[in-house]
Amino acid sequence: MSDDCIFCRIVEGKIPSCKVCQDELTLAFLDIGPLSEGHCLLIPRQHYARLDECPAATLAALGRNLGPLARAVVDVVGAEGYNVLNNNDRCAGQLVEHIHFHIIPRNPGDGVFTQWPAGEYPEGRIEQLAENIKKLL
Ligand code: AMP
Ligand code: ZN
Repeated sequence: MSDDCIFCRIVEGKIPSCKVCQDELTLAFLDIGPLSEGHCLLIPRQHYARLDECPAATLAALGRNLGPLARAVVDVVGAEGYNVLNNNDRCAGQLVEHIHFHIIPRNPGDGVFTQWPAGEYPEGRIEQLAENIKKLL
């Protein structure tokens, strides 16, 4: 636990939150700055800054809870779909340095994400990247 982490303080009940479910390893609550109605956050109870620091058992618990939570949220708000988003590092939009998965209900034309700046690879680069990544796994 980290005293200067807002999500650790939520886990400890030191600051209020609208919790929707919890188990031994995880907690979910509503985001106070929603991108759409019902926007939720699913977090590990323990403090880890980034996804790649999270132990497998905790990741498994997060993964297990994501689907049912997303289903419940979209059913309650009557959304057609949802995004699951996990930002890692400030450069990727992470403001709270305690792992969290956003569940963001979506509807056609809602304007929540309007950009997907897809690029393209020069000849041979995609295969080279795949080989280099495989070597580290
Ligand atoms: P990120 O930019 O991925 O780090 O997202 C952090 C999220 O935490 C934002 O969507 C905030 O609205 C949300 N947030 C920050 N403080 C609280 C809080 N006290 N209760 C609920 N959500 C929060
Ligand atoms: Zn924390």
